[in-house]
Amino acid sequence: MKRRDFLSKGTLGAVGLTWLGQFTDAFHTTQHLKKHAGKFKNVIFMVSDGMSIGTLTMAHLLKSRKYGKPSNWISIIEGLQTRRSLMDTSSASSLVTDSAAASSAWGGGFKVPNGSLNVGVNGEFYKPILQKCKSKGLAVGCVTTVPITHATPAGFCINQSKRGNQDDIALQYLDLKFDVMLGGGSDFFSGLKRKDKRDLFSDFKNAGFQVAKNKGDLASCEFGKPILGVFDEGGLPYALDHVNNKEQESSVPTLAEMTTKALDVLNKNNKGFVLQIEGGKVDWAAHANDAPALLYDQIAFDDAVGVAYDFAQKNGETLLIITTDHGNANPGLFYGDKANKNFEKLFLMKQTNEWILKQVKSSDSPDKLKDLFATYQGIELTKEESITLMNQYSIQTEQGIYNNYKLPFKQLAEIQMKQTSVSWGSMDHSGDFVELTLFGPGDWKFPGYIPNTYLHNFILEGLGIIIS
Ligand SMILES: [Zn+2]
Repeated sequence: MKRRDFLSKGTLGAVGLTWLGQFTDAFHTTQHLKKHAGKFKNVIFMVSDGMSIGTLTMAHLLKSRKYGKPSNWISIIEGLQTRRSLMDTSSASSLVTDSAAASSAWGGGFKVPNGSLNVGVNGEFYKPILQKCKSKGLAVGCVTTVPITHATPAGFCINQSKRGNQDDIALQYLDLKFDVMLGGGSDFFSGLKRKDKRDLFSDFKNAGFQVAKNKGDLASCEFGKPILGVFDEGGLPYALDHVNNKEQESSVPTLAEMTTKALDVLNKNNKGFVLQIEGGKVDWAAHANDAPALLYDQIAFDDAVGVAYDFAQKNGETLLIITTDHGNANPGLFYGDKANKNFEKLFLMKQTNEWILKQVKSSDSPDKLKDLFATYQGIELTKEESITLMNQYSIQTEQGIYNNYKLPFKQLAEIQMKQTSVSWGSMDHSGDFVELTLFGPGDWKFPGYIPNTYLHNFILEGLGIIIS
């Protein structure tokens, strides 16, 4: 069935998003891509997960004003060789996507319901892009700061109707033998943590993988045998906490370091490669309204952007895509007499909200919390504010998607905004169109507005894997 026919009869119509029908003719005819087929040998696909435009803006402001140099991403946008687009991110079940459906739209080329990885509304499977590329001889991989089995990498790799079934996703990776898979998530590989008690680390080794559990292990991995690198039980530490913890800093690689290693390995493949790189904890920080965590993780992502851009510039045969899968919490720097000065408080922060809140238990005095914020963030809490936050430890009413300890993130963000001028619209994903930046050789054109599904065939055609 032609892709265009399937789209118009299938996924989109089924969920009433008929207004998207315009894309089926305007964008999926692929006619204008035909003459550009086979332009790229390699693709680097970078995702700052859950990055609202305010996150990109504030990270750029912070980096420029604190370190005296602009963000790599904005510098790339400034360049004359860059194409930009706005991207619709809706899924088959909602105008507001989750990460699984969003990654599947790129990875499988079709909109699927939230929670699903490349499994459509009627249970149909869409073959993920890294499987397609691997079968054509390209080297493939994923790098992330969250579990490697998490939704964004998984959407490029596997089919699974429930994104939460990360035990199964880890097993699928064993069979796929992709070249480089780096991130967190040892809970899904360890025999002590998996439901089936199976020690996947041994299974991966026996299947010929090089298994890395720290920076030193990763340094000794080489091209030729697949690499599995898992550096934490769950997500990797937030960048701000990581840099202030000597032990973690010496054992857990940064996103930029993992990117450097992945590119070094994958580039040794003669037929080219496709690599996805995710700043996954930008999304987690947005869900927690944790401004220092958010902005320093976005800057860590931007460091990885710098590594990828240097590679693409020197290599000359690489398409670099930089984007996000959806907005999250829509943070922003808001006006007030002290907006500039307040924002500068973020320059001096040494730990994230999460790190500080985890130092406290319900039996501690409010003064302990007050001292912690003064010492590690330069934030002065009033006595009432400290008591309000401490009370939350007893009643534990706060929920939140990555808030296992029921920490009072929301209450804190409301208090903190008075001193940083950074405020939030929500603690959930948004339906905003998102920034898409493309850099690569050749004189191809790119539409100024696309549905997220558009990138799937664009990449495959650019690599010369499908010819329309
Ligand atoms: Zn996401």
